[in-house]
Amino acid sequence: MTAQPSSVLERTHHELVLSFDSFVRRELVPLAAEVPEPVDGPPRELRDYVRKRSAALGFYGAEYPEHMGGAGMPLTALVQLHHAAGASGCSLAPYALAGPDGPSWMLTHGTPEQIETYLVPMVRGEKLRCLAMTEPGSGSDAFTMATKAEWDGDSWLLNGRKTFVSNAGHADYAVVIADVAASAAGAGGATAFIMPLDHPGVRRGQRYLGMGGEPLFELLLDQVRLPMGALIGDKDGIGASVEFAMDSLAYGRLLVAAQCNGIAEYALRAGVEFARQRQAFGQVIGSYQHVQEHLVGSRAGVETSKLLTLACAELVDAGEESGENAALAKLVATETATKVVDRSLQVHGATGYVRGHPLEYLYRHIRMMTIIEGTSEVQKVIIARSMGLG
Ligand SMILES: Cc1cc2nc3c(=O)[nH]c(=O)nc-3n(C[C@H](O)[C@H](O)[C@H](O)COP(=O)(O)OP(=O)(O)OC[C@H]3O[C@@H](n4cnc5c(N)ncnc54)[C@H](O)[C@@H]3O)c2cc1C
Repeated sequence: MTAQPSSVLERTHHELVLSFDSFVRRELVPLAAEVPEPVDGPPRELRDYVRKRSAALGFYGAEYPEHMGGAGMPLTALVQLHHAAGASGCSLAPYALAGPDGPSWMLTHGTPEQIETYLVPMVRGEKLRCLAMTEPGSGSDAFTMATKAEWDGDSWLLNGRKTFVSNAGHADYAVVIADVAASAAGAGGATAFIMPLDHPGVRRGQRYLGMGGEPLFELLLDQVRLPMGALIGDKDGIGASVEFAMDSLAYGRLLVAAQCNGIAEYALRAGVEFARQRQAFGQVIGSYQHVQEHLVGSRAGVETSKLLTLACAELVDAGEESGENAALAKLVATETATKVVDRSLQVHGATGYVRGHPLEYLYRHIRMMTIIEGTSEVQKVIIARSMGLG
């Protein structure tokens, strides 16, 4: 194939992506080959090793500002790294980049002491966290929570029940979103706290197993007492969670989009390779138009989605992104990747369907992408609003 149109937007950080690719091929692919099919994900020690090694090489957490332990890497570079991780097909590559158990952008709104104590060790890959936001009664409308935090004498008292929390099995801290009632001291609202997972009153409840093999936990908070220093942003953080989240929403959505584009590119490549060698009725299956339709349709989708994600990342770096473009990129990338993986599995027939084949795993793994970081329907609501509808 000749150069792809999206490569025009990938020129600036080409060297960085090559060096990440080479790290993945040289160090992670051989390690991943020793791990059997990811069921609960790769073993904890291996993920710890990959994260710390990647941080030492300057990839993990590099998007955070220098005074927070990172290198101020722009989003245009980061989306390309996430794309490369997905496209590599290496099960360890995503752990080399900060993800949902890594540093939280919410913490950048913390006091200098909170940044030093909690965020910097996360950026360095030394500590992990999870996000406890969803509740049994609120998912997409996450900020209408039943979990309460009240100031009680000299500490915050938290009570409630969070659910579907990824990474709660191994993280050190949870960023918990709880409702603070309005008082004479000021307005209340959804408020973010940082809480050690081994804190008295915190208990893991039901453990669910996602279809991609990832465990999700209930977190039960029963009379959890936290000091003032646990309120992210100190008093200014009361009721500020929505604002904090909005700041990094485009960021998170574009990273999901980039991972999906990478996975879709990997699946497409696998489909094309298979179609060029598999024979049926005396010919390679890639010569049949119905098979070509799967692969050409996928290529059009992947390339379109990649262009959209890269262009949106440029808008974020330029400070011109308002949220709806990232919603568009997330919607297109997640829906496209889901279809591309499905089509590539179809091209593989039974070969791709059996346990242990990468496409069988990706088919299960990719399904979460249209649900996390705002469902596809929620992205459509955002886009419709930006068009003056609803
Ligand atoms: C793999 C995975 C990991 C997760 N990790 C975490 C985590 O670490 N921390 C955490 O807090 N949560 C986590 N979640 C939960 C996730 O954030 C929620 O699943 C998500 O916000 C959707 O909420 P819900 O599942 O309750 O669906 P609901 O909000 O109940 O939605 C159900 C359906 O209704 C649709 N819908 C809802 N509102 C509208 C509307 N206004 N217009 C049109 N359609 C609408 C939705 O799109 C969906 O199709 C995780 C979920 C998954 C699948």
